[in-house]
Amino acid sequence: MNQTATIDAVRQICEAVLRRRTFLVTSHARPDGDSIGSQLAMAFALDALGKQVRVVNADAAPDHYQDFPGMDRIEIASAVDATAADAVIVMECSDPSRTGVAGLEGHPFIVNIDHHAGNRMYGALNWHDESAAACGEMVFDLIRALGVPLSLEIATHIYLAVLTDTGSFHHSNITPRTFDICRQTVEAGVNPAAMARRVFDSNSFAKLKLIGTLLDRMELLDRGRLAVLDIDDAMLAACGCTHNDTEGIINLPLTAREIQAVAFFKVTSNGDVRVSMRSKYDVDVRSVANRYGGGGHKNAAGFTVTEPLEQARPRILQQLTQAIEEGLRTWHVARST
Ligand code: 5GP
Ligand code: MN
Repeated sequence: MNQTATIDAVRQICEAVLRRRTFLVTSHARPDGDSIGSQLAMAFALDALGKQVRVVNADAAPDHYQDFPGMDRIEIASAVDATAADAVIVMECSDPSRTGVAGLEGHPFIVNIDHHAGNRMYGALNWHDESAAACGEMVFDLIRALGVPLSLEIATHIYLAVLTDTGSFHHSNITPRTFDICRQTVEAGVNPAAMARRVFDSNSFAKLKLIGTLLDRMELLDRGRLAVLDIDDAMLAACGCTHNDTEGIINLPLTAREIQAVAFFKVTSNGDVRVSMRSKYDVDVRSVANRYGGGGHKNAAGFTVTEPLEQARPRILQQLTQAIEEGLRTWHVARST
């Protein structure tokens, strides 16, 4: 989206927000830091404008987000009656089905705010900016445009969104704008050291044990450039963990210099397999996710496997090997010019 289109989208959303009274704010299923941060920053801003807000998600957030401000106002529901809301604000979803919440799709006034590639522009108003490192960057711009002061609660959630969606400032989507926004949140009282500790250093002993087990069993392919992690309910139970404890583990293999991409296969209780992927630099894991109906970003993407894992797994790993090959080629070309 170019700058004029962005200004236009923000202006239209501001006008729509100021004219309406009741809002429902939602985000994608299995919410991450960007979903939670974007939703709650928006909810606090709507409070400041005297609006009525409901925040609804399909799934609870991982435990380490639970003591952030406003977490208690998030309703967990797989279906809602949204007719009472004048507007539904959907964050972080390329398609409304990503919310996992039934009852929203037919709403006459959806505001779609997203930074993922391939957004289907399903809203009455659509603001899609792939250049944003986090949806929280977009929410920051919107809140400023609405004239709402950056309270500590809002700043905390914006920083949370940016900190987590940049992979703690590791991903290739970071721009000067990212740091400008962070600077303003720190000026508003956010403590970056405390935020990093709260988000990344809040593991339980059980999770540390799980990390040990997973890394011990990690498979290395493609001459050590591709790492593969596998998990199922039995492994989780043996360590005293739940699926929520797997958050963030996928990033650990990338701390090895040679490893360029990681695939994490999680067999869920209903037998579906969630595939999460992470990569470095120009290695594009979204291109692999897209082939399976998933999505995400160049360095962080995912999808759900709908065919037997033993059939899909070798193919996915082959496609990742190819993505590594292509990514390293463009990276070397870019560095030599
Ligand atoms: P994660 O691996 O943490 O679940 O997701 C990484 C990134 O990929 C996030 O931006 C997430 O929104 C996106 N993503 C993960 N799974 C899916 C999926 O099934 N569909 C789409 N469209 N995006 C996904
Ligand atoms: Mn995001």
